[in-house]
Amino acid sequence: MTAPAPSFTERLRALPAVDAVLTSPAATPLLERHGRAATTAAMRAALETARAAIRAGADAPATPADLAAAAAKLLETQARPSLQPVFNLTGTVLHTNLGRAILAEEAIEAAVAAMRQAVTLEYDPAAGRRGERDDHVRALLCDLTGAEDATVVNNNAAAVLLVLNTLAAGRESIVSRGELIEIGGAFRMPDIMARAGTLLVEVGTTNRTHPKDYAGAIGPQTGLVVKVHTSNYRIEGFTKEVPARELADLAHAQGVPLFHDLGSGTLCDLARYGLGHEPTVRECVADGADLVTFSGDKLLGGPQTGFIVGRKDLIAAINKNPMKRALRVDKIRLAALEATLKLYADPDRLAQRLPTLRLLARTAPDLEAAALRLAPVVAALLGPHVTVSTCACRSQIGSGALPTETLDSHALSLRPEGGGGALDALAARLRALPVPVIGRMEDGALLLDLRCLEDEAAFLAALRAAEPPHGLA
Ligand SMILES: *Cc1c(COP(=O)(O)O)cnc(C)c1O
Repeated sequence: MTAPAPSFTERLRALPAVDAVLTSPAATPLLERHGRAATTAAMRAALETARAAIRAGADAPATPADLAAAAAKLLETQARPSLQPVFNLTGTVLHTNLGRAILAEEAIEAAVAAMRQAVTLEYDPAAGRRGERDDHVRALLCDLTGAEDATVVNNNAAAVLLVLNTLAAGRESIVSRGELIEIGGAFRMPDIMARAGTLLVEVGTTNRTHPKDYAGAIGPQTGLVVKVHTSNYRIEGFTKEVPARELADLAHAQGVPLFHDLGSGTLCDLARYGLGHEPTVRECVADGADLVTFSGDKLLGGPQTGFIVGRKDLIAAINKNPMKRALRVDKIRLAALEATLKLYADPDRLAQRLPTLRLLARTAPDLEAAALRLAPVVAALLGPHVTVSTCACRSQIGSGALPTETLDSHALSLRPEGGGGALDALAARLRALPVPVIGRMEDGALLLDLRCLEDEAAFLAALRAAEPPHGLA
């Protein structure tokens, strides 16, 4: 004869009290690591889950050790940062959703130092009085771009807003209909203009804008002629745009400044590193733009920042705009930025030291070798139900630089048995790893583009870290 099974009530009553779990030996390391408040809350949650399971007729952890283990799991999940490192194997080097540029070690060290200590953010130690934030990078930016003056703000969207608001609020800004861009979601040129308080005057057509279109629109109400780099698309076919230099001459003849929003912009000729030619900031300045804006975390390879470079009198006006204060950068990014800009003084080693350029410059044979090296190891980790092969593919620069140009790359191609549903499930399992692995779907396979994978050992370790007992296989 077996004893009758304990009733729900008996089993519920047998659960230990929160205090009993908290004082059990299993709770000590949790209390040390997570503190009393969080540990108590997790114990309560574990107990509540156990009660619900018992009421539903299921077995539930009942000893203090069981409950502490359940609480530990909960606490680990909560302790994991929301902003997680990931392996970006999407093939898009400057991926806005994955944080764009990866910083150079020099920039990281500078940022860390600035976080640890008081710094001369707005202080001139030689004179013993107040200095300016921009002083740390102004000369570097002027040297690198040929501009008279420069200032730095939160991002390029802020730079554009500030230029328009300072120089064209209550007046007109003239833009070609071919350049009224939207950059991902909330950045649309017409909306920014409205918020800046300037009246958008569209000229030309989507595919063709002529000098006479601008000339006919410039008048006493004109604050700025605006040229916008079509960062994320190309208009091809029967097209005409007015080159920057000609537009500058045209604007200057009427006494109106030309503002060029370059978007990504670059400080060096990318052709030197085997990439297509993207207009450099220096070229833009030399072509007569009175102000040029560009991003710090696109091709430049630095922290999120936006630059305004150009005429001294116009930059002085911008610095007097109270909005500048609302859009300024902090000491951490400024430190990283200064270190990043200093790397440009040595173009020969730039492609080694600046991760963005290093990743963009990786060659197809180098990436193919990586794919051949990794494929058998990854195949073993994924088990017999996933076919792992290598394939040629195309990477993108991303963030609106050279939008129509792609780079020869190589990928691991993962195809699970069972098609679509299994493919989505595999992608989800890779995304659920402690360090998520993010690939892209292409032609019924999950591609892991290896262009941005530099630490292969860390990648393999991440795959091995899949939850036991089944692992990824
Ligand atoms: C990317 C881009 C912006 C916005 O720059 P952020 O640094 O993302 O704020 C503005 N204009 C152009 C042309 C761009 O390419």
